[in-house]
Amino acid sequence: MNLMEVAKEAMNNSYSPYSNFRVGAALLTKSNKVYKGCNVENASYSPNCCAERTAFVKAISEGEKEFVAIAIYGGKDGKYDFCLPCGVCRQVMSEFCDKDFKIYVSNGKEIKCYTLGELLPNSFKLEK
Ligand SMILES: [Zn+2]
Repeated sequence: MNLMEVAKEAMNNSYSPYSNFRVGAALLTKSNKVYKGCNVENASYSPNCCAERTAFVKAISEGEKEFVAIAIYGGKDGKYDFCLPCGVCRQVMSEFCDKDFKIYVSNGKEIKCYTLGELLPNSFKLEK
């Protein structure tokens, strides 16, 4: 299974009539399941939810707590470039993932891989 292909497939369900920026994500768990997510926009904008957070919320609500990687694919008006997660999504990832959690992004030709530690070296954390 190709995680980036699943992210592209997830993008087909994107609800983004306001920005035309369509995003799909595929989140791989340690138990080897994949949860798909897409961005979901709203007329009042602030309730917008990113594809990455959609995938995380779906997985966590199904009992998953351990994650290996996420693939993200998206772009505006059909032009796809490396779509890195926003700051809010990076913070959500840091709640559940180690610094070596892999984040794959693609422009349709090439795939780049980052770790969460690279994209968010100093996240906000509370003592558990
Ligand atoms: Zn985001």
